[in-house]
Amino acid sequence: MGLLHSSVMAVLPLVPNPLMRRISSRYIAGETLDEALAKLAELAGRGYSGVLDILGEDVEDEAAAREVVEEYTLAARRLEDAGLDATVSVKPTHIGLRFGEELALELYRELQRRCRAMGRFLRVEMEDHTTTDATLRIFEALRKEGENVGIVLQSRLFRTLDDIDGLAPGPLSVRMVKGIYLEPASIAHTDPEPIRAAYVECTRRLFERGAYVSLATHDEALAETLLAMIREMNLGPDRYEFQVLLGVRERLWEKWKAAGHPVRVYVPFGPNWRAYSTRRLRKNPQILRHVMGDMLSFGRR
Ligand SMILES: Cc1cc2nc3c(=O)[nH]c(=O)nc-3n(C[C@H](O)[C@H](O)[C@H](O)COP(=O)(O)OP(=O)(O)OC[C@H]3O[C@@H](n4cnc5c(N)ncnc54)[C@H](O)[C@@H]3O)c2cc1C
Repeated sequence: MGLLHSSVMAVLPLVPNPLMRRISSRYIAGETLDEALAKLAELAGRGYSGVLDILGEDVEDEAAAREVVEEYTLAARRLEDAGLDATVSVKPTHIGLRFGEELALELYRELQRRCRAMGRFLRVEMEDHTTTDATLRIFEALRKEGENVGIVLQSRLFRTLDDIDGLAPGPLSVRMVKGIYLEPASIAHTDPEPIRAAYVECTRRLFERGAYVSLATHDEALAETLLAMIREMNLGPDRYEFQVLLGVRERLWEKWKAAGHPVRVYVPFGPNWRAYSTRRLRKNPQILRHVMGDMLSFGRR
């Protein structure tokens, strides 16, 4: 698979937009808010709550960052109107972090305030290690304003256990992930096993301090270990949920749901779908096989 994987990765940037859009359709709800709401409603009908994400990162200027707040506000309002159980999730560089921590804090604060007025929960996402300190500072500031805010922590980074210990006391909601960004070996685990072991250790530490943990993973073996810990610690479904990405290992979500575990599905949408979809495809060699097939048949058409 190695050679096939690297050759497909090499040609992915050349795949024309219409074909790439078709291949990506399993990972993204569409380009519009209406399509995302329809997907969330369909999932709700099947017993899944949601996370709404407007695709985007590294906005080009401050005005664009301010526009993102308006887009999320509209999305939160529409979720409210539709009566959907869905949180909103925002990347720091989508809301202007590259233009200064102060700007990002101001905009997150405004969005948090508006979300609070609508009874919505706002998740601050975590990007690569160059943003970790600022993101944690922003999160700590937001926590002081209300409980409708959570953070993401990455088990890949060596620092994460210390970060957990460094968070101020009080109610805490964390989405625990392995971390999608490939970080240098000087600051992060690079092999799957230590990343998994750190995930378990971080989750235990979070549970011990009373946090609500969103277990964002599709790693079935890891999930089994986490569920064993949950049983051992005698925790109820008010202390955890699974979070999964739209289009990824749906049979696993069904199994978890059928066993009585809460499952929340991450539903991204927006015109900036190409970068996100490329990252998803990099993670899944089986889909790459279909991509290869699609590309060959596209060429024949
Ligand atoms: C709801 C949610 C939110 C996230 N938010 C963040 C965030 O804010 N910051 C961050 O750094 N990371 C985030 N991530 C990504 C996370 O860090 C991991 O990169 C991702 O979940 C893959 O790790 P895994 O635990 O699923 O295990 P893996 O061992 O990587 O995956 C297990 C199996 O699931 C399948 N799979 C997993 N992920 C994908 C995928 N993306 N596309 C296709 N197939 C896949 C593959 O078949 C793989 O073999 C998020 C993940 C989820 C589920």
